[in-house]
Amino acid sequence: MKLMLHICCAPDAAVPWAELSRNMEVTGYFYGSNIHPADEYEKRRSAVEKLMEHVEGQCIYPVPSPHLWLESAEALADEPEGGKRCALCFRIQFEQTARAAVGSGCSHICTTLTISPHKNVVLINSIGNEIAENFGLIWVDRVWRKNNGFLDSVRTAKSLELYRQNYCGCIYSL
Ligand code: SF4
Repeated sequence: MKLMLHICCAPDAAVPWAELSRNMEVTGYFYGSNIHPADEYEKRRSAVEKLMEHVEGQCIYPVPSPHLWLESAEALADEPEGGKRCALCFRIQFEQTARAAVGSGCSHICTTLTISPHKNVVLINSIGNEIAENFGLIWVDRVWRKNNGFLDSVRTAKSLELYRQNYCGCIYSL
């Protein structure tokens, strides 16, 4: 079974990657167009590359199009974090991941986002399920932060010396 894993950042990806790759062929997808500014994108991408080197994994890094992300999100600029703008952001990212998954012959998709204690995991999995279905894929419905998943991700990020950001990613969260 082949799975494409939407990676929001390297620290969040370590635990899901280890677990999913036990019985699936996993490829990462680092969207990145929501991340502002450009040097922050580079830091997060480098951290994902470092993790991929460590796990001997492959990841797709699409050319970032921050202007396109902004065009979609700017009408929701005043939304609080966790509100409608974030739902749209998840949708944009999962659609891109699903498109790449179909193109790579994957049958399943999943995201690393549910490891965060700050994220609405019900919303994330519901959007993920809907998008996977639209693309003829299976959404792997996981809440990675359960069973100390978040603490494990922090420990792993520290031990691998992965860059850890202190805001979600977009200009509004910054
Ligand atoms: S706060 Fe995070 S999830 Fe919400 S819109 Fe910004 S980057 Fe996307």
